[in-house]
Amino acid sequence: MSWWAPASAAAAGLGRRLLLAVGIAWASPTTLPGLLAGCVGLLLGARAYLGRRERALVFARMPSPWRGALTLGNVILHTGDSLEVACCTYAHRAGRADEPLIRLADHERAHVYQAMVLGPLFLPVYLLCGGVSGRNPLERAADRHAGEGRGWWPWAVRARGGAHCRGCRGGGA
Ligand SMILES: [Zn+2]
Repeated sequence: MSWWAPASAAAAGLGRRLLLAVGIAWASPTTLPGLLAGCVGLLLGARAYLGRRERALVFARMPSPWRGALTLGNVILHTGDSLEVACCTYAHRAGRADEPLIRLADHERAHVYQAMVLGPLFLPVYLLCGGVSGRNPLERAADRHAGEGRGWWPWAVRARGGAHCRGCRGGGA
């Protein structure tokens, strides 16, 4: 009876790759502007590499007046040398919580996953949820994913009763 296990594992691997391909295609309208910005960055000294764990093409050393990282679909634009750096969560930075440092790569990977689910809706939803802010449930979920390794999707789906917006609970996170 051992013949079915490898076949099942192969099917699961194929399913994951298929899901990844669909997510990349669905996120491509968001990825494209990131890719164009990254290519301009290359002309100005940025360097690109494939972030396999992040499921993204990473452009490091991006010239920008702001420091940090920006995820657009399957592209991460970063002003530093590497995403393998520690950073504060939004809540910690705002003084609303005393949280340990997180890895920037883990935070940005959560945004890649979110973009592969939301596709072309990612940017409108991100802006409607508050943009670059610790009150944005997408940012809070990315911090949670980076800190705890889970929960990159901000809206938990209940067994009964549909989706619930965590960002709507209690207000002032
Ligand atoms: Zn973020």
